[in-house]
This record gives sequence, structure tokens and C-alpha cells, in this order.
Amino acid sequence: MLVGTPLDGGIIQDGRRLGKPELCLHTCGFSVNRLKWTTMSAFPADSFKDLTEANAEYVKSFKYSELTGVAQRGLAIVTCMDSRINPLSVIGMRSGDAKILRNAGARVTEDVLRTLVLATYLLGVKRILIMPHTDCRMAENSEEEIHATIDEQFGVNTSSLEFRTTNDQLGALATDVNRVRSYPLLNKGVSVGGAIYDVKTGAITPVDC
Ligand SMILES: [Zn+2]
Repeated sequence: MLVGTPLDGGIIQDGRRLGKPELCLHTCGFSVNRLKWTTMSAFPADSFKDLTEANAEYVKSFKYSELTGVAQRGLAIVTCMDSRINPLSVIGMRSGDAKILRNAGARVTEDVLRTLVLATYLLGVKRILIMPHTDCRMAENSEEEIHATIDEQFGVNTSSLEFRTTNDQLGALATDVNRVRSYPLLNKGVSVGGAIYDVKTGAITPVDC
């Protein structure tokens, strides 16, 4: 587990300084900090064996080499981390078409806004769909209940985190849609909408926000 931040030029893990961040340039065009580890552990190959084997097959028929980081269909979709949602398939898109942002509950956080700002100025995004879903744990329990559940089952106090759960999913969606719409740093002319994805039928239902 990482402790602290690289603000002083290094990361502390288990009392050891691991290294300083270095600047690298991703193919998407953004410079990001990448940690150059001075202390490393072997990749846990056994835990990821099925992934690496599947990827070996994937690359044999890979057909997206020509894509750029620009969203070809001008869309960013903010949805939940729920494993039942395949965002591109839901809306008839494919690799290269859209930016996909995911977190618990499809909530608009500071990091979502940060990412949308970049996407709307530099990566071709002109419309944003915020898409929470039915049967979402983040919309069925209060903040206090989630903290209490983790504490009871694992003995860990997570009260320093804000999980942004809600008992009013539609209200939260309206809040989030309008938070994006009114965010002053977002590029002009971006269309923002909200919809609920039904995990039982695959249907999305647009919501007036
Ligand atoms: Zn969810």
C-alpha cells in the first residue's frame, strides 16, 4: 500500500522511498508523472495469467492501430464501475469512438471534471452522457451505512473517504449533470445529458435534468 504522495519527489511505501516521478509523454499527447521505481517487485504473473494469455490472442487480430486519442464520435460517457455495464456496446460504439470515465456510482467528482475539461478542449468531446444504472449499490445505501458495513466486516474505518452514495439516484444525477453544465472551465458548446442504464434489459432511459 502506498503511503503519502510524490509531492516531495518520492513515494513512501512501507517506510521505504521508492523513487521520483519522471515526466513521460503518452501517445494521447498528455504529459503525466510516471513513477520510476527504484525498488520493484516482480509482476504477479500468476494472478494475471488469464489476462496475459487472452491478450496474446487479442493482439493476433488487433485492428485499431490507426486510431488516435481523439474521440471519433465526440462523446464522453461517465458511468459506474459496475461490471455489468459495457459502455461502448450499450450505445453502439467501438474502440476510438468515446472517452469513458468510470467510478463508483457514476458520480461527477473533481477528477471527472478535470478529465472532462481536457477531453472537451483537446480530445474532441462535444457531448457528455452521465449514466448511472439500476441496482447500484451506491444508490441503495447511505454514506453512513457503507462506512458501517466495511467497518463491521473488515474492521477498517473508512470515514475519511467520501463515497458519494445517495438514496436519491435521480436527484444525484440531476445534481451531477448540472454540475458539469455549469462548470466554468468546460469548453463552450458541449451538450450534457443524463440517463439511467437498466442492467436487466440493457435499455438506457434519458432523464430530464
Ligand atoms: Zn453502480
